[in-house]
Amino acid sequence: MSESPYPYEAPASQALFDRAAAVTPGGVNSPVRAFGAVGGTPRFMVSGSGPYLTDADGREYVDLVCSWGPMILGHSHPDVIAAVQDAVSRGTSFGTPGEGEVALAEEMVDRIEPLEQVRLVSSGTEATMSAIRLARGFTQRSKVIKFAGCYHGHVDSLLAAAGSGVATFALPDTPGVTGAQAGDTIVLPYNDLESVHEAFHRFPGEIACVITEASPGNMGVVPPLPGFNQGLKDACGKNGALYISDEVMTGFRTSRAGWYGVDGVKPDLMTFGKVMGGGFPAAAFGGRADVMAHLAPAGPVYQAGTLSGNPVATAAGLAQLRLLDEAAYDKVNAVSETIQSLVTEALNKEGVAHRLQTASNMFSVFFTDREVRNYEDAKRQESFRFTAFFQSMLAQGVYLPPSSFESWFVSTAHDEQAVQRIADALPAAARAAAEATAA
Ligand code: PLP
Repeated sequence: MSESPYPYEAPASQALFDRAAAVTPGGVNSPVRAFGAVGGTPRFMVSGSGPYLTDADGREYVDLVCSWGPMILGHSHPDVIAAVQDAVSRGTSFGTPGEGEVALAEEMVDRIEPLEQVRLVSSGTEATMSAIRLARGFTQRSKVIKFAGCYHGHVDSLLAAAGSGVATFALPDTPGVTGAQAGDTIVLPYNDLESVHEAFHRFPGEIACVITEASPGNMGVVPPLPGFNQGLKDACGKNGALYISDEVMTGFRTSRAGWYGVDGVKPDLMTFGKVMGGGFPAAAFGGRADVMAHLAPAGPVYQAGTLSGNPVATAAGLAQLRLLDEAAYDKVNAVSETIQSLVTEALNKEGVAHRLQTASNMFSVFFTDREVRNYEDAKRQESFRFTAFFQSMLAQGVYLPPSSFESWFVSTAHDEQAVQRIADALPAAARAAAEATAA
């Protein structure tokens, strides 16, 4: 019998995956969950507590995905659970305005100065889609600039050279998006201001907005070079376009005020999701009041949602944000730095060429010795080393993002014990990365 390349099989997860594949395309409800980039059986999780997840086979993992960002306080934080239980006991959806959504919007506006007004939605995709529509409605222009490797959700017009699952699956574009839908999207290399100036020069009076991840995490972590975001803001201002900062991933994670709290560049519009929903489907877009005034019912640009501002989701989000004070961010930053050092040390010890890139407490490892400034650089890494590294960590009970094009996420719940488990797993994983060969 030939030996399995994945020595730690997960029979209960595999059985669920087989069941799922019969009723759901690819067996998952979001592509990256299928482990397509790393192989093996996706783990079906049954519970989460603090920094740990437990799968259907009863195996526990230190979670370095944190639901792709939202679980910044760890899983099942008692205060968040209590807020949700309290909200649920009063009903789950009313389809009317309610106080919870006002309180959540106030909390967000209070934290982020350029955020004068907010509209709540249910996913980051909806947030970016609506922000683009609003920018087009406001400016009465059609073209949008986005950057290769930046992912803004599965918005038709933004699924051109997107990162994240699209990068993992090497789909530069996707069938189902028409030329007309993508035709007004100008895709430029990230961190390249010159190309932005050229685009404005080439399409005078036609560009509605520039949308960028505030600090990209969907091609792995590739922070903006000093002055890049300010340069975008200035180019937009000069050319009558709006600067949209997508903070779905960075918002309320990279600081109390998200990436805005780090670089201080004032966007015209911003988008949010993940942390602000406390693990529930809540997201938002917002910004300048004069721009937001164009949104229905105040203005003519239509946007709506049956479950927008859902009372349970807003209660979870508000509870989570209220717990996120400076001390909480200090804690997340500290644990992130500790894990970063441990990873670097283990890989260095095995002589594995790599770059660990950071954006506040977000970080990821590229298996290359060159700095990664854009999507082309990110694609040049030796991803096969990541696969070996990932599988070894998984086998030892550490759950990493199943792709080398993703940020790793930590939480306030990652205590010494969880960090020790990561430290214990790293030497073997680094060795596996060193010994890996391209398929
Ligand atoms: N924008 C960014 C920067 C993201 O990272 C994501 C999701 O990962 C989205 C938008 C889309 O959010 P959602 O998956 O909630 O639709």
